[in-house]
Amino acid sequence: MKPFGYLQAASVEEALRAVAGQPGARFLGGGTNLVDLMKLGVERPELLVDVTRLPLDRIEELPDGGLRIGAMVRNSDLAAAAPVRDRYPVVSQALLAGASGQLRNTATTGGNLLQRTRCLYFQDIAKPCNKRAPGTGCPALDGAHRDLAVLGHSEHCVATQPSDLAVALAAVDATVHLHGPDGERSVPVTDFHRLPGDRPDQDTVIRPGELLTALTLPPAAPGARSRYRKARDRASYAFALVSVAAVLEVHDGVVRRAALAFGGLAHRPWRARAAEEVLHGAPATEDTFARAADAELAAARPLRDNGFKVPLARNLAVGVLAGLADPATDG
Ligand SMILES: Cc1cc2nc3c(=O)[nH]c(=O)nc-3n(C[C@H](O)[C@H](O)[C@H](O)COP(=O)(O)OP(=O)(O)OC[C@H]3O[C@@H](n4cnc5c(N)ncnc54)[C@H](O)[C@@H]3O)c2cc1C
Ligand code: SF4
Repeated sequence: MKPFGYLQAASVEEALRAVAGQPGARFLGGGTNLVDLMKLGVERPELLVDVTRLPLDRIEELPDGGLRIGAMVRNSDLAAAAPVRDRYPVVSQALLAGASGQLRNTATTGGNLLQRTRCLYFQDIAKPCNKRAPGTGCPALDGAHRDLAVLGHSEHCVATQPSDLAVALAAVDATVHLHGPDGERSVPVTDFHRLPGDRPDQDTVIRPGELLTALTLPPAAPGARSRYRKARDRASYAFALVSVAAVLEVHDGVVRRAALAFGGLAHRPWRARAAEEVLHGAPATEDTFARAADAELAAARPLRDNGFKVPLARNLAVGVLAGLADPATDG
């Protein structure tokens, strides 16, 4: 591993100053992704600015009934927090579906959203990869792509976004708060991760030197239920082949409100707007849920070996929505 400097920042201002104009500097959260990538030679920072001691480790109630979650809140603490479990179960369930207990104890909210793709070629510096080394090509297109994207991909990259938390946040319309050299700004989480286009090296819209400081969640709709479900190769310690995050409110058998997002299908959490259009105002039946999933997945463009993701996503979405619609039969 290349030698690097280490600084423990005591304030946001100190952290921002330390990385300003330093392309070789990286913020260090729990290090569960960054340090792995350093060992693989994918990341070769000159300076690590440890941000875990910043006073951004609280979960606070907002006056409007929403929540503010500091970027340094550990994944385990966020999953276990009573207001999250009670009002945003989809968020708690997504966190608990990810990684392992030890990793969740270390991983931060900010680092989780900024973790890099698990594409095998990205992690192997002996291989070309447009995301790691722009302009070198995408061997996954003709190579190992069973786990990769079926929606929104490009000829330059077919990688998927790995964070379970990000998918749940997309379904609850969270906002990401950033602080950088030009001040503070906020971005809806659904606009935070990018599609690859011809710049797959950029996973998100974060700018150089910007620190992710917090997330806010809008108030949970009274009467709405939410759920995260993940299909994967092993029962734990595995990334999503497909996941579904859903929020559903049903009155008198009719869908009053629905938010649906898929994970494992694209370079960003895939908010299923076409499906939501079918759901709104429709009878809360399996037929409606199947039509909604089909409306969204009609845009899928599977690769040679990952066509199985389309029916898997459809079945997972229908099952989650049916369970939310009918608590009596919900398993
Ligand atoms: C074996 C294994 C299995 C896993 N399985 C899953 C899984 O199933 N689902 C899942 O979602 N995740 C999974 N993970 C990933 C894990 O959740 C992430 O590694 C973790 O959430 C990253 O958080 P961190 O704080 O350790 O980030 P770090 O590794 O510290 O940082 C990650 C990136 O974010 C940047 N960064 C960190 N904090 C900030 C900030 N506040 N502002 C700006 N930039 C920042 C860093 O510079 C770095 O580029 C797994 C990891 C491992 C090792
Ligand atoms: S899919 Fe993206 S990350 Fe994977 S090899 Fe292609 S360019 Fe690299």
